[in-house]
Amino acid sequence: MKIVIIGAGISGCAMYLELQKHLPKPSGAESHEIVIYEAYNTEADTTADQRPEGPTHSATLLVGGGLGIAANGLRILQRLDDSLLQDVVRGGYAVSSSNMKSKNGSLLMSLKPSVSPTADSPPMNMWLPDRMGEIRYSSRTLVPPVEADLVIGADGVRSTAKRALFPDATEDPYPPHYEGLVGVGGFIPASEVKDVVEKGSVNFIFGGNGFFGYFFSNSADDAPNRDSPYHICDPGDSLAWWSTYEIEECPDHKNIDKADVTTQLQKRHEGWKDPAIQKILGSLEVERMYPTWTSAPIPTWERDGVILVGDAAHALPPSSGQGSSQALEDVEALALILAHHLRNEVETSSGSYKTVFKAAAGQYMEIRQPHVSKILQAAQENQNKKREMGVFQEYMMYGFLKLVGFFPSLMTTRLRSVVEYNVVDHVAEILAKGD
Ligand SMILES: Cc1cc2nc3c(=O)[nH]c(=O)nc-3n(C[C@H](O)[C@H](O)[C@H](O)COP(=O)(O)OP(=O)(O)OC[C@H]3O[C@@H](n4cnc5c(N)ncnc54)[C@H](O)[C@@H]3O)c2cc1C
Repeated sequence: MKIVIIGAGISGCAMYLELQKHLPKPSGAESHEIVIYEAYNTEADTTADQRPEGPTHSATLLVGGGLGIAANGLRILQRLDDSLLQDVVRGGYAVSSSNMKSKNGSLLMSLKPSVSPTADSPPMNMWLPDRMGEIRYSSRTLVPPVEADLVIGADGVRSTAKRALFPDATEDPYPPHYEGLVGVGGFIPASEVKDVVEKGSVNFIFGGNGFFGYFFSNSADDAPNRDSPYHICDPGDSLAWWSTYEIEECPDHKNIDKADVTTQLQKRHEGWKDPAIQKILGSLEVERMYPTWTSAPIPTWERDGVILVGDAAHALPPSSGQGSSQALEDVEALALILAHHLRNEVETSSGSYKTVFKAAAGQYMEIRQPHVSKILQAAQENQNKKREMGVFQEYMMYGFLKLVGFFPSLMTTRLRSVVEYNVVDHVAEILAKGD
């Protein structure tokens, strides 16, 4: 069987590894052929200045970025390969508390979903990804065309694979949508803020005209447990920051004036009382700029041997903090379900693959679509806290967060239902029902 994976983001690379791990080996001599195609050669062009024209990343100043991987995502990496998890953790910084603050400096709420990280519940990991898997670079449309039994569309919010699900449509019926929000970010030396930033924390500061966040982005080189997701280490030499604000038109990377973006950012947050923000504003350089693109829920993620995973199927707003973890849940679920059906299929002549893919895709969507939809709803509520608002609305937001802060279980219950969810159990349940 030949499987083609389109896109080498976290979904595509993890899909490759999950299929390698779980698919039963065919009885004949030939094993399955699994190939990833990636349109973007990140070694050749990573910054906006060097980038050729193309719609893949319309406005980012730099390709790639930091990701917060939640406990549900980390557990999937662990099941996949313990050493992969250690690599990821070593490349980032584990955090166990999420502090929500107002621009006036008061702590509104501190969430500690994993009060002391345990084997079942690692904290979140702020990860600066490197590469995994073997990747072939391609154009956005495969030329010459490639034949495959199964195509997995892991090609992100601007998915080309998605178009194969709607062959009668002349235009993309579920096009990506710019949310009117842009994130900018960068790094500063941790030594400048070590005395004012809590170890093991990620900090979210809300104001009426935008949002600011920061976290240590690596562990100290000599921290004994820096590759363990269950330990909060002394921070290393770098602190990452990001800020999200409302802007009507999606910025075009060709016309971005970084100096102007920096000045505006400093102006926007000049009165904010948080001491770390003031230190960051004093020495920042805008390195990254990410407009928020999402897509409307797509009714189906499958058609005739094409199956979508990750952002190609459901681009969640960054405020969910779950984009990569949901992508990992997709690929683990799909690999396990496909493997189950392939094992049950006595005759694996190429004709019968179609039935296998149809049955597997049905169960995959039954598990994934309702789960992702709940996360999307919560993320949309959160995202609105980053938009411009009037003073009344702003203080209502602080009041609400403060009130919820008195009853943290209200928030942690919702959070736990996401980060403690185990997709493997859900898959086992659905497969048992179907047998
Ligand atoms: C600003 C921002 C902050 C975020 N923060 C977080 C966070 O903290 N935690 C979190 O979990 N999630 C976060 N997310 C979401 C997260 O980044 C995505 O959910 C995740 O990266 C999706 O992975 P993916 O592999 O599905 O898609 P992508 O990462 O978009 O990968 C798709 C790949 O496919 C390639 N491609 C596209 N078209 C083609 C084609 N035709 N042929 C071949 N290759 C193609 C692209 O070049 C790309 O490499 C954030 C998103 C943004 C924008």
